[in-house]
Amino acid sequence: MVWNGILLLVTALLPPSGPGWQWPLRPAPQILRVFDPPAHPWDPGHRGVDLAATPGSLVYATGPGRVGFARDLAGRGVVTIVHGTLRTTYLPVHPSVHPGRRVSAGDPIGRVENVLGHCGQTPCLHWGLREGVEYLDPLTLLGLGPVRLLPWWDAPPWNPAEAPLPPPDPPTTRRQ
Ligand SMILES: [Zn+2]
Repeated sequence: MVWNGILLLVTALLPPSGPGWQWPLRPAPQILRVFDPPAHPWDPGHRGVDLAATPGSLVYATGPGRVGFARDLAGRGVVTIVHGTLRTTYLPVHPSVHPGRRVSAGDPIGRVENVLGHCGQTPCLHWGLREGVEYLDPLTLLGLGPVRLLPWWDAPPWNPAEAPLPPPDPPTTRRQ
């Protein structure tokens, strides 16, 4: 049941795409692997997108915020930026910023580490987006599709038995 509330929150608060959000790499990188959220929270899946990246190249904040996490985690450098209720994650990145630092969109936050494995023998940058415990497709920040806010883990959040009138169709939910 808690997922319903979270999903509603997520779809309601997903920021508009457009100026203010940008790729974490320059020029705009090739996408090696798309967002593929698991059917259930405990299932494997891909909770972000993988971008072709040259080790040593600069990684940029995709939006304004504050550095939340910037250190080695299980052999890979990880940087997280908090943007209000959203969080973006970048790895493997050797950070050039410290937690607490304010960043603007496009500020360098580190360099791609020469760590293989996540994309096989191809170096890549994993870019993730979260709202609370929910993983979202970071490409939505750039206005790129497909938008995948699925799955629903439970019944629809609206219960007809408790609502006198049907609600308007939620325009931002269940888009594929
Ligand atoms: Zn990945």
